[in-house]
Amino acid sequence: MKHRPSTRRTAAATLSLGLCTAVCTVLAAPAPAAPAPAPAAQGPRTDTKVPTAVGRGGAVSTVDPEATRAGLQVLKDGGNAVDAAVAAAATLGVTEPYSAGIGGGGYFVLYDAKSGKVRTIDGRETAPAKMRRDAFIDPATGKPWNFAPELVTSGVSVGVPGTLATWDKALRKWGRWSLGEALAPATKVAQRGFIVDETFHNQTTENAVRFAATKASRRLWLPGGSAPRVGSVFRNPDLAATYRQIARDGVSAFYQGKMAGEIVRAVRDPDKTRSTELPVPAGRMTRKDLKGYQVALQRPTRVDYRGYDVYGMAPSSSGGSTVGEALNILERYDLRSMSVTDALHHYLEASSLAFADRGKYVGDPAYVDVPLSDLLSDTFAAERACAIKPGVALPKPTAAGNTASYDGSCSTPAARGEADADTENLSTTNLTVVDRWGNVVEYTLTIEQTGGSGITVPGRGFLLNNELTDFSVVYDASDPNRIQPGKRPRSSMSPTIVLKDGRPFLALGSPGGSTIITTVLQTLVNRIDLGMSIEQALAAPRVSPRNGAETVAEPAFVTAYGAALSGYGHKLVAAAPPSYPQSEIGAATAIELSGTRRLTAVSEPTRRGGGAAGVVTPRR
Ligand code: GLU
Repeated sequence: MKHRPSTRRTAAATLSLGLCTAVCTVLAAPAPAAPAPAPAAQGPRTDTKVPTAVGRGGAVSTVDPEATRAGLQVLKDGGNAVDAAVAAAATLGVTEPYSAGIGGGGYFVLYDAKSGKVRTIDGRETAPAKMRRDAFIDPATGKPWNFAPELVTSGVSVGVPGTLATWDKALRKWGRWSLGEALAPATKVAQRGFIVDETFHNQTTENAVRFAATKASRRLWLPGGSAPRVGSVFRNPDLAATYRQIARDGVSAFYQGKMAGEIVRAVRDPDKTRSTELPVPAGRMTRKDLKGYQVALQRPTRVDYRGYDVYGMAPSSSGGSTVGEALNILERYDLRSMSVTDALHHYLEASSLAFADRGKYVGDPAYVDVPLSDLLSDTFAAERACAIKPGVALPKPTAAGNTASYDGSCSTPAARGEADADTENLSTTNLTVVDRWGNVVEYTLTIEQTGGSGITVPGRGFLLNNELTDFSVVYDASDPNRIQPGKRPRSSMSPTIVLKDGRPFLALGSPGGSTIITTVLQTLVNRIDLGMSIEQALAAPRVSPRNGAETVAEPAFVTAYGAALSGYGHKLVAAAPPSYPQSEIGAATAIELSGTRRLTAVSEPTRRGGGAAGVVTPRR
């Protein structure tokens, strides 16, 4: 699609000049240098977070300086992007233990410079073989458990973890380092400790009731009965020992050895404290489930968007299909030549339409037929785009399209749909790595809820996930995301790699439950269509259209665009409880590759306390 030059104040101009006022103060600062290499001293590091770094030779962006430093050091020591991604992820398991770790799962996307291909690993957790379809129903009442904190704080929500198997597979297939080598930096951080920041302190406080429900969690996360104070050093020698054991014995220590028995026990017989009032229902995971866990090597999704090849994660995540479908719809419009309100209107509508289809069609493809090629077809997008009317918002929720019958014409009017129950939480973490050879890794990993299931494997230093609550709570045979034994619950994680002319241009991803999809989509639109730099695109205020009657947006977005968009009939609500747990959406990381060597590593300037970007050789 060609872009017509316009003399009007276009979306691009307005967003990069007007909307940016709030966020660009941070961005105006000169690109800071990468964190210095680790000193010889063994004490915890106190360095500040750096949101943007520009340079060459490799780059890492995560939410945390320890993890970014670990990844950078691997790159400097000759490791490639896969090695650095695993080292950074393992470090996040130490410093962001409520978001990710070996008790969880995730999706790993690689651009392999040698083959020029994008590869993915689906390391999503699976339901135990004995999981029942009524697992989330309280036998005492016959009704679903109250979702949070009751259902999420449970053994019944724990899926068979896939993170460690993902690291192992990635390293074996594409890495230069062994798992033991890649775990070493994180082991050091776990042993010597890290400095507690406000995010860690607050997340602990917010989860105190859940952590107090089981003995091992209470002991580890609430030492002395409360959250560790900001500025104190938090050590996790149990996790250091766990990593050491895995380094020595391999992943079989986790999936088959003594540790497997301990994980199963923690799930089936949670070590409830006497004082807790939470029910902590037990799960049905067995050692056989752990032994049988397999990652899935998936073909990525791919759409062509205005000359860019956008690669994403195929189901069991809905990330790639939903981002891809929305882009296909948007590609039909010249957003650059529109007013900012009109460009945003199209983004809101395209995303909502794609979410309607996600709800109806996407689940684990090993268990349900997912019409992926239809969802990503330009003809299907053309038909879905018929629902978008200039200046008038579609009534929401809008119904899914018909993937079994479409011809791209506008003969079927859009119908009202039903809201998709959305219980995905907002935790998770994301990281981006590029190495000197041009390999790119985008990796989103999670234990689902902030604090996961709240259950720590006693003596092992890590939390188990509550990923199974990403299944629909109530069983419905027509729902692609219904509970089934062995199945992966549908995810929204959207690690995305964009190529231009066959070479990597941009990699990005975010946490945030179902808002992950909109954060990635909006950032792409900001960057590709609306003339923002990658720093601006990532920092800009977010809105999360997910086909609900109301659309949650960050307060700065509502201030800037609420009035204009409500004139079109959009119902924006500022992100805040009870419609949304907090006032920010997502915590993204990205790296842009320009020219032959220039890398711009970007993380959040402020969201979730700000992220940490670094490059191997900073620009002078
Ligand atoms: N469980 C969510 C998913 O798979 C991620 C949770 C989050 O981002 O907080 O999409």
